[in-house]
Amino acid sequence: MDMGNKNIVSEIAENELCMGCGICSGCCPSENLTMTYKENGDLAPQILGECPQRCEICLEICPFSYKANNANEIAQGLFSGIEGISRDDLLGYYLDTYVGYSITNGHRERGSSGGMATWLLEELIKNNLVDSVICVAKSESKDSFFAYRIFNKVDSIRDAAGSKYCPVEMSGVIKNILHEENPKRYAIVGLPCSLKALRSAAHKYPKLGYSIRYMLGLCCLQLPNRFYTEYLIRLSGLPVGQMKTINYRSKRGAERAGNFRFTAVSSSGKRGKELPYFVSVAHAFGSGYFKRKVCNYCEDVFAELADVTFMDAWLPEYESDPTGHSILIVRNPDINRLLKEGNKQKSCLLEQMPIDRVIESQRGAVESKKKQISGRLYYAKMLGEKTSRTEAMPSKEVYRKHRINTRSSYRIQDKSKQLWPRYRKKPPWLFAARMLPYSWPYFIKLLRIRLARLWREPRRMLKLLPGSIRTRILRNN
Ligand SMILES: Cc1cc2nc3c(=O)[nH]c(=O)nc-3n(C[C@H](O)[C@H](O)[C@H](O)COP(=O)(O)OP(=O)(O)OC[C@H]3O[C@@H](n4cnc5c(N)ncnc54)[C@H](O)[C@@H]3O)c2cc1C
Ligand code: SF4
Ligand code: SF4
Ligand code: SF4
Repeated sequence: MDMGNKNIVSEIAENELCMGCGICSGCCPSENLTMTYKENGDLAPQILGECPQRCEICLEICPFSYKANNANEIAQGLFSGIEGISRDDLLGYYLDTYVGYSITNGHRERGSSGGMATWLLEELIKNNLVDSVICVAKSESKDSFFAYRIFNKVDSIRDAAGSKYCPVEMSGVIKNILHEENPKRYAIVGLPCSLKALRSAAHKYPKLGYSIRYMLGLCCLQLPNRFYTEYLIRLSGLPVGQMKTINYRSKRGAERAGNFRFTAVSSSGKRGKELPYFVSVAHAFGSGYFKRKVCNYCEDVFAELADVTFMDAWLPEYESDPTGHSILIVRNPDINRLLKEGNKQKSCLLEQMPIDRVIESQRGAVESKKKQISGRLYYAKMLGEKTSRTEAMPSKEVYRKHRINTRSSYRIQDKSKQLWPRYRKKPPWLFAARMLPYSWPYFIKLLRIRLARLWREPRRMLKLLPGSIRTRILRNN
C-alpha cells in the first residue's frame, strides 16, 4: 500500500534491505508496522495504515537506511571517553580481549562456543546490574521458531543458550519496555545490525536507553532466512511444522568444534537425524542458501557497538577441542570487572588474547565484509539494485577478482528463496539437486581450498587412507 510518505517499507523492505530485527516496528509511534513473513521467507515490516507527514522515525532507526547514523560516530560517543580504552580499525573499541569458557554448570555444554554469553547474562542478574535479560529462546507462537523473550530465572536463561541461525524480531519486547510504567533494567543479546538499530532507537527514545543497560553482541558473517531452518528440518527427516526443539549447534559426538550437529525434535516427540555441519549443512550455509540480501552490504564483523562481543575461537589451537571456546571483545568496564572477578573465583577460565589473533579467528568474515564488499556494491550497481548505506565504495577491480563467486552467490540467494516453497514437501535432496546449476562455483571453490590445504600440509592426506595403512606409515616415520 503506497501511502505517499517515505517509510521503512517503501525504502528498505521493498528493496530487500531489511534483516528482520523488528526494532522499527517496536518504535513506530503510530503502531503502523507489523512484522510478517514475505513469500520468499524473509521476515520484514509491513505497513498497516497512513503515516503522518514527515515522520520517518523508522528510517532514522533502521541501520540500513540512508538516514541511519554513522556507526563510527555512535561508537565514538559511546566508548571513546572510557579510561584505558583502545581502538583498532577492524575490531573497533576494546578494553580487553579474552579467550576462554565458562566452568559454571552446563554453560559450555549448552553454549555454541564456550558458553560465556550465558555466563555473563547470569552474572549481570546475580550482581544486581540488571533486573532481567532479553535473549532468544523457543517461540511460544506457532508462526515462528524463535522469539526474543525476557527472563530472570537461571534455568530459562540456560535453556536459551545456543546460536539461532534464523531472523528473530524484537518488536514485542521494545513495545513492552517503552510502555513500562516502572522502567526495569535489562541486558540484551543481539547481532551487530540489531544493536546498531537499538543504539539509534535509544537515542530517539531515552527510556529505551535507560532500560537497556548492557548490549551483548554476537559476531556475525551472515543470516539466512527461515527457509534455512525449514530445509535443515527436512534434511533431518522431519516434516516442517511446530518443533519441540531445534539445536543448530549440538556438541554431542562432534570430534572438533566446527563440526557441530543440527538436531531437531518435532512437536510429536519424533527425533530427527543428526546433521554434522561439514557433511550435511556446510553446502547450504557456506554457499548462501536463503541468505538475507542486506547481509551482502554489511560491514560490521565484531558488533562494534556492543558493550561486549562474543565469537567462536576459529583458530586451529582451539578448533580441535569440540567443547568450544569463546572469544570476547570487552568495551564496558562493568563487564570487564565481572569477567576478571569470575576468572579469579574460577567460575570461568579466561586468558588475554592479542587482537591480531582475534581478527585472525574471523578471517573469512573480515575478508568478506571489509574487502569483498566493494565488489558486491559494484555488482549491485550493475544490476541497478539499491544497497544500504556503507562506508565502503563500489570497486570494479574487486568485483572482477571475485566475479564468478559474487554472481553465483547472488543467484543462489535468489533461487533458493524462489524454489524452496515448491520443494518444501518433497525429498530435500531434490531441492539440493535443483540448486546444483547455481551452486557449482561454490563446490569448485571448496575443492580448490581443500587441495591447497593438502598441498601445504601433505600429512592431511594420510586421513584419506584406510586406518591400517595410515598406522603403518606413521609407525615407519
Ligand atoms: C546468526 C549468527 C551468526 C553468527 N556468526 C558468527 C561468525 O561469523 N563468527 C563467530 O565467531 N561467531 C558467530 N556467531 C556467534 C557464535 O555462534 C556464538 O553465538 C557466540 O560465540 C556466543 O557463544 P557462547 O557459547 O558464548 O554463547 P551461548 O552461551 O550459546 O549464548 C548465546 C546467546 O545468544 C542468544 N542468541 C542466539 N541466537 C541469537 C540470534 N539469532 N539473535 C540474537 N541473540 C541470539 C541466545 O539466546 C543466548 O543468550 C553467530 C551467531 C549467530 C546467531
Ligand atoms: S532491519 Fe530492522 S529496523 Fe530495518 S526495516 Fe528491517 S526490521 Fe525495520
Ligand atoms: S515510524 Fe513514522 S514513517 Fe515509519 S511507519 Fe511509523 S508512522 Fe510511518
Ligand atoms: S551479516 Fe550484518 S546485516 Fe546480516 S545479520 Fe549479520 S550483522 Fe545483520
